[in-house]
Order: sequence, then structure tokens, then C-alpha cells
Amino acid sequence: MPPRGILDELKEIVGSKNVLSDTKALRSYTDGSLDENRGSTSRWRVGTSYGARFVPDLAVMPSSTEEVAAVVQVCNRRGVPLIPLSGGSNLVGATVPIKGGVVVDMRRMNRVLKIDESNLYAICQPAVILSDLQTELGLHGLCHGTNPGSADWATVGGAVSIGAQTMTGFRYGTIVDNLLELEVVLPYGDIVKTGPWYGSGYNLRGIFPRSEGTLGIITQVTMRVHRLPPYRVSAGFMFDSFEAAVRTQLELSSLELHPLSTILSSDTFGREHEELAREDPKRQSRGWLILELEGEKTEVSRTSRRIDRVAGAREGRKISRRSMDSIGDFLLIFTTGARKSALPALHTAKVRVSRHIWVPPDKIVEVYRAFEDLVEKYGMDDPTALNTPTRLIVGCLVDPKSERDITALAGFLEDLRMVARDVGGTLFGAHGAGLVNKSEIEEDYGEGAIELMKRIKLALDPRLIMNPGKVLDLDNSETPPE
Ligand SMILES: Cc1cc2nc3c(=O)[nH]c(=O)nc-3n(C[C@H](O)[C@H](O)[C@H](O)COP(=O)(O)OP(=O)(O)OC[C@H]3O[C@@H](n4cnc5c(N)ncnc54)[C@H](O)[C@@H]3O)c2cc1C
Repeated sequence: MPPRGILDELKEIVGSKNVLSDTKALRSYTDGSLDENRGSTSRWRVGTSYGARFVPDLAVMPSSTEEVAAVVQVCNRRGVPLIPLSGGSNLVGATVPIKGGVVVDMRRMNRVLKIDESNLYAICQPAVILSDLQTELGLHGLCHGTNPGSADWATVGGAVSIGAQTMTGFRYGTIVDNLLELEVVLPYGDIVKTGPWYGSGYNLRGIFPRSEGTLGIITQVTMRVHRLPPYRVSAGFMFDSFEAAVRTQLELSSLELHPLSTILSSDTFGREHEELAREDPKRQSRGWLILELEGEKTEVSRTSRRIDRVAGAREGRKISRRSMDSIGDFLLIFTTGARKSALPALHTAKVRVSRHIWVPPDKIVEVYRAFEDLVEKYGMDDPTALNTPTRLIVGCLVDPKSERDITALAGFLEDLRMVARDVGGTLFGAHGAGLVNKSEIEEDYGEGAIELMKRIKLALDPRLIMNPGKVLDLDNSETPPE
């Protein structure tokens, strides 16, 4: 229950209709029914089942930085937890109110405030949806280069807060790499701007990204944008082994030919994409390399010829133009497979669970082989592997209602985590820590860095009201069992 009187104070700040207090609306923040079009916090419940146990006491929807600051001040005075939420598409329980409190739902702060074509930057409110931002930038011949599978409902503020990474990151950098300035409401309600990116002094804009709402609420983002390339082309190759495809991709990277590329084991195509399966009627290919090149036409053509030579040297067979034309659809289908799994209605059926692994590039083949062994050991269904230039994404189908599937998934992921760690990798490289991955943070960073993070957290948020229990364990917050 919220402390007495807080409801009226919050209504005064944001208006009555922008404070949610009825149980059904509040439950929607954790039971997956938030709004299918906005994604859901529920997908991480695959393999865990504690999400819906937690319901916020209230939710507020501010419309300005000043309203956010006033809400924070009211809650801080009373020691009430605050959970910032922009798109709600995170996969790691990052917005679950494990200590109750007030969800600060930023959905009304969704305007692009400025696009500067000459100086190549944009200023956005945090709840601007990534695909909407791209639509606006596209009208100016620009792009932002952050395209997660959730781009139709994930937001700029959420992507900065978890440090989103996407396939295009190799070319454009991540959204965090492109940050110029942030405006943040601190846990005691002060509004700060992190200052000019070209200035001296502490790099304050480096503190808030990836903090998952535990250090303050981002109310404005200034980010670098890029010119849309004049020419774009896709190409694809089939290989007899996954290893040949990976080695080709590694060689292209070492030659600094940086396409947007993916590799998949051939099994995926049979089930999910007929056109590409027809390319390989005997189903003998075990590795597919799919590339998108962009830039000036002459530069792209030259790069394309070099890629043909590198792939040809490993006996890569070129995929026909007709099939390549449907590659956009194919990638969509791949991400839609993941996207469907985010939707609660599909919790009754098998859903695709995927995990992102960062491993040193020369260890990808080794980890993939271990992945195949683990698939067999645990009897995982419909395994897929997709290797972007920055990480390996492995996935399989799981019935969230089947105890066997859930137990197998837990063992499979734990073993995979050990494999990744043994070769100097980490199991997650995107998506954030939230609740689900926070134990891994400690292992990945080591004591000194964790201690410094805790000190920063305590300095900014001594009452521990900002998104409690996420990323770091400071107050022995209950971490619900898997
Ligand atoms: C199908 C699918 C595909 C995905 N693909 C990718 C992918 O390719 N790469 C990737 O990185 N992620 C991916 N994700 C995960 C997720 O969509 C992204 O991490 C996304 O960037 C989160 O944005 P959001 O607006 O939904 O954030 P939310 O879920 O609202 O919040 C995420 C975290 O940020 C905090 N937060 C949100 N807004 C603010 C704010 N204004 N101020 C401070 N803290 C805030 C929240 O408290 C929470 O801790 C995918 C998810 C799905 C469902």
C-alpha cells in the first residue's frame, strides 16, 4: 500500500487521469498485459515465474521533466521506491517492482524535440520509440543505427538505460557510443544536464547509461545521428559447415570489411523460411552468411567483389538474387519469432528463447560446438545460432508450461554460461542485468569495480529508492528464485 496522502500529491502533479491505482492497470506492469503493442515485461518469466507476484502500488505518467522531478521529490521524502519504465520491452525483469512503489511510466514524454541535419544530432524525450525516431530521421536522410528486434516498441530512454546493442552497432556504434548529452532527474529530484560532450571535467554522461533506472530518470537524450547511406545491397552464401561461415565472417572483419551480417545454422530455414530452404534442397548447408552492405555505390560494388572472393575461397555458394530479395522478410521472421515469445498470449505455446553471448571472436566456433553438444544433452528443440559481428545469439524452442522444458532450459543455460566464461566471454552482452542477470555482473566485473558501482549508487541514491534490487545487490533485496 502506498503511504497515505501520496496519491493526492501525485494527482496534483500529473493530473488525476495520469495516476493509475486500480489493480488491473497496476498488474499490467508485471503480468505481461501491459499492452502487446508496447511489448511486455513478461518474457523474462520464461524459465522463471515470479514476475506477476509483484505489483506496483501506483503508476504515474508525467508529461515533462518538471513533473518527473516533482514526482521524485514526493517519493523520496517518503522513501517510496520509483521504477522508471519507458517501453517495457526489457527481457530481464528490469522493471519488476520487487519492493512495490511507483512506476514512473514515461509514455507521454515521447516527442522528438530537434533534428539538426547540419551538425548531425537529435534531441529526444525518453519514450520516443526507436522505429518512430527512424521514421522522422529518414525524412531528413538520416538514421540512428539502433535496431533491436523490439524497435517498434522499445524506446530511446530504455535503450540508453540498458545499453542496447544491435547488429548495426558494428557500423554505427551502440546508442551509448552515440550519446552527446543526457538530462536526468536525480533520486532526490534535482534536474541535471550532463554537460557538453566536447568539454573537460568528469564525463557525467558516462554514468547513467546502462544503470537501468537505478541512478535517476532520464528525461532527455541528445544523440549523434548518421547520414543514410545512398546505396544498400544484400548478399548471402551457404557453406558446408558453420565453422566455414564463421571463419569467413571473421576474415571479413579482420579486413575491415564491415557488413551488417548474420550467420544461421541451416536448421532454421526449413521451419521458418521456405524460399531460403529451396536454395538448399538437399539441406546440406550448416552455415549461412548473410550480409548487408551500404555506402557509395562504387565502394559497395568493390567491397562486394572482395567478399565474393573471401567467401569463394571457403567454397561458399552464393544465394540467388530472388532469395536475397526476401532476406528482409527472413530477418523479420527471425526477430518475429523472438517477438512472439514476448507476447503473453503465446505463453501457452512453445516460445523461442534466445541468449546473447559475447565471446572473443576466435572462440565462436568452439562455443558453437559446445552449444550443439548441449542441445543434444538437454534435448533442446529447434536450435538456432546467429552470429552478429559483436555476439553469438543462440536460441531454442521451449514450452513455458512444461516442467521438463523449464528444467532442461535452466541446465542448458547454466552449462552454456560456464562454456562462455571458460573462453573469456560473458553470457549476456545486451539486454541489461535487471533481476535475471545481476549475479553475472559480480562475476564479470570483479570486486573492485562492483565496490565502485555501489559507492556511486549510494552517493546518488542513499535511500535506495531508484529501481531497488536491480543490477547490484545493496540491501540484500530478495532475488526471487528461478
Ligand atoms: C523481441 C525482442 C527483441 C529484442 N532485441 C534486442 C536487441 O537486439 N538488442 C538489445 O539490446 N535488446 C533487445 N531487446 C530488449 C529490449 O527491447 C531493449 O533492451 C530495449 O532497449 C529496452 O527499451 P524499453 O524502452 O522497452 O525499456 P524498458 O523495458 O522500459 O526499461 C529497461 C530498463 O531501463 C530503465 N528505464 C527505462 N526508461 C528509463 C528512463 N527514462 N530513465 C531511466 N531508466 C529508464 C528501466 O527501469 C529498466 O531498468 C529485445 C526485446 C524483445 C522483446
